Amino acid sequence: MQAQEMDADFAKAVKEWTTKPEFISPLVDHLPKSRSVPSPKDILGHHIGAPKKLDYYEEIIRYYKALAAKSPRVHIVDIGKTDEGRESIVVFIGSEETIQNLDTYRQYLAQLADPRQLSESQARDVIAKAKPIYHLMSGLHSGETGPSEMLMELAYRLVTEDSPIVKSIRDHLIVSITPAADPDGRDRYVDWYFRYKINETSEEDNLGGPPYWGKYIFHDDNRDINYSQLPMRNLLHWYLDWHPPIMHDLHESVPFLYTFSGQAPQEPGLDPILYGELPWFANFEMSQLTKYVMPGVWTHGYVDMWSPGYLGFMSSNHNGLLRMYETFGNGGANTLHRKITPETPNPNNSSRADSREWYRPLPPYAEVDWSIRNNTNYMETGVLTGLQLAAAFPEVVLDNFYKKSLHSIESGKRDAPFGYVIPINQTDLTRVAFVINILRLQGIEVGRATGEIKLKEGAFPTGSLIIKRNQPYGRLAKILLEKQNYPDPSLRTYDDSAWTMGMMTHTKIVESSDAAVLDIPVEKVEHFDAKGSVPTNSSAVAYAVIDSGSVNLATLRFRLKGVSIRIAEQMFQSGPVTIPAGSFILSSDSLAKAKTETEALGLTMVALTAQPAVPMHDADLPRLAVYSTWGGTQDVGWVRYAFDQFETPYDLIYKERVKQGNLRAAYDVIVIPNQGRTTKGLVFDLAPKSKPLAYTKTSEFKYLGDYGSSDDISGGMGLEGALAFRKFVEEGGLLITLGEASAFPPEYGITRSIEAGRPSSQFYAPGPIVQAEILRATHPIFYGYTEKSMPVRWAGGPLLTVPRVDRKQVLMQFPGGDDNVLSGLMKGAAEIKNRPAIVDVPVGQGRVLLFATNPCYRWQNLGEFRMLFNAILNYDDLNSKGQEVKESRIR
Ligand SMILES: [Zn+2]
Repeated sequence: MQAQEMDADFAKAVKEWTTKPEFISPLVDHLPKSRSVPSPKDILGHHIGAPKKLDYYEEIIRYYKALAAKSPRVHIVDIGKTDEGRESIVVFIGSEETIQNLDTYRQYLAQLADPRQLSESQARDVIAKAKPIYHLMSGLHSGETGPSEMLMELAYRLVTEDSPIVKSIRDHLIVSITPAADPDGRDRYVDWYFRYKINETSEEDNLGGPPYWGKYIFHDDNRDINYSQLPMRNLLHWYLDWHPPIMHDLHESVPFLYTFSGQAPQEPGLDPILYGELPWFANFEMSQLTKYVMPGVWTHGYVDMWSPGYLGFMSSNHNGLLRMYETFGNGGANTLHRKITPETPNPNNSSRADSREWYRPLPPYAEVDWSIRNNTNYMETGVLTGLQLAAAFPEVVLDNFYKKSLHSIESGKRDAPFGYVIPINQTDLTRVAFVINILRLQGIEVGRATGEIKLKEGAFPTGSLIIKRNQPYGRLAKILLEKQNYPDPSLRTYDDSAWTMGMMTHTKIVESSDAAVLDIPVEKVEHFDAKGSVPTNSSAVAYAVIDSGSVNLATLRFRLKGVSIRIAEQMFQSGPVTIPAGSFILSSDSLAKAKTETEALGLTMVALTAQPAVPMHDADLPRLAVYSTWGGTQDVGWVRYAFDQFETPYDLIYKERVKQGNLRAAYDVIVIPNQGRTTKGLVFDLAPKSKPLAYTKTSEFKYLGDYGSSDDISGGMGLEGALAFRKFVEEGGLLITLGEASAFPPEYGITRSIEAGRPSSQFYAPGPIVQAEILRATHPIFYGYTEKSMPVRWAGGPLLTVPRVDRKQVLMQFPGGDDNVLSGLMKGAAEIKNRPAIVDVPVGQGRVLLFATNPCYRWQNLGEFRMLFNAILNYDDLNSKGQEVKESRIR
């Protein structure tokens, strides 16, 4: 057989761009020349890994479309749109036969993903005919620019190369590709790179990235456990349609290539097979690349397997195999002089990143000139090697996938808990809907009980929602709904240690150890809507929209912005109906307007027999602003996302507006979310550079300047800004601070009497859920809450001290201690004993509401959201008279 013709220009260029001979492998030092299929250079004008070349998303898509147009080995599917309207796609690559019969292969995988209809021999038969989909994902983190480039070359290679390894991959696997998981962020980052980073030569002059990637969040697109963001949701939909047994997520950070093997702490609820597969692949890659004498390929000592909230974990959560790389990226395409930071990347051991360890037999160099081509070589060699292994053992991959799916069902029949009941007789069904619809989004089956239920745990009414564990994603349901028992407090974890959905959303979810739950007759629930109810009679003197704690009450207020609404400050009776404090009182003539919206939002409106005799105040609409630093927009982004979802209008303001002063003239309420930085960082933000750092839209850089713009994003609001906030409060404004930002008012003298301390260095609390107790139940921020205590997510906020004489300012506190850690890990829980969780401090004409919690954490702790929305809806009545009622009358 004649040797395949190779692209000499490619080989020469790549050799030149690779900074040391050992930074390349025999798998990628060449590229076939094709007469029919366009190479990346044919379409993009450059080989992949060329210095100072990065491609915009549109160009990347253009390349894949050109490839698909010319090759029967490529097929593209559309999976939805991003916030900014870009199309998300998945590119499939395989042999002609595979691509022609793609849908048949999809169906085989669907059968293995839900093997309830398969006998063992039928399963064998399907496995013999099926091919694994091996999914590759890049560009989730926009600053990690290399993978989206590399995958184009890989795609071309997989389509054109006739080497035994590539032929085997093409014949035995279906390779699928996400070209950039955050398409909006890709373009914004590439713009920023060309504007500012194109001349960088060493990491010392590294400027960092733009203020935004996608519309709302940065790295947290990999922490979006509830799939709130559009690109993440689109990918999950695709995943559940195609069931790739392997999903491989490509990131950049540590040197030179880290291949994830799922170190401790590990989620014990996942199938043990997974924990064998992870090192199986990682070790094969490490040994192969080490054989190619590529230094710095390692495994084990970095990311753990605890939180199920990372995007790629959609795979392991659904009985697949999640794989992940970190390669050494430069945040662009420049060759930079890099020093390996001596700090360990691994929180669970103290080794240096360049030390020799059992899991790093050939360590990376301590100092190196590093190019994007080096990065491409490592990543592509690694990925080809992972594909090589999967292609050598396709039946094993498929059999593992089948067995993990089967075991999930069997475990649900065998091991308690056998299921979960969400009683339908809870007052707020909008939060139930939030939970159910997220479970449904995850592919978890939910049923509605067709009759009354009697279990060990008690009796539940007809219509209660049932999640049985004997289903393919029964393990995932358990992981999401159960309490997290952190296995070893001496281990650190990469993200949150707790996520228990019932606690996060303040929804009653009953875990059942009664196997009878599996036999409850149910009808399938596709989607759950909280049904609103409104009176038919339209001649009442007034109407009340009942406050059952739904955040939708805020949406209703803003939808009815022209309607005058009063808020009942105390509970009262109307005939047999109890109207809780916080309920909206509408006059008789606003019924027509309010009815449709109330019903649509799943709220309940009742006719009143008489005007309420309890104190009320007008639900005035505040002029609301959200403050963001330029250097920490992510946690602000989560708050913006929640405000947008609940249709709460606000201005997003930055230092430019704050420094102008006179904030009170424009706003009634300003929220300072957590900024992911210290209070000093909040005030002084990004250090000034030698030149102004503009984030503005120009004809050349059209993706910059979104969600705010500035001629110089550095420097922060400074003391001038801190003063402007103080003035705002003194002149009658309400300042609300969340999480770590709540150290700002105490430390910059806005709330002089409060001190903000920090826990000791022994304290370690990666996002556990802890108990909080309400001290002033009648305060308007607790409208809709009925219990004295509630679970809250620990937000890493300051340990506040309030002078004894002002103790009444404390609205909620942490009882502290190990007994009050409800889920996940808090080491040193005694340190938070009786610390204020929320404080309402009058200052001048206004007030400051300090949340040491974060009542708007990601799209997750819905149960706490109402406290923030209550503060906004009742902004000028936080010291209302109705609070003076005796506790006994409230409860
Ligand atoms: Zn990353």
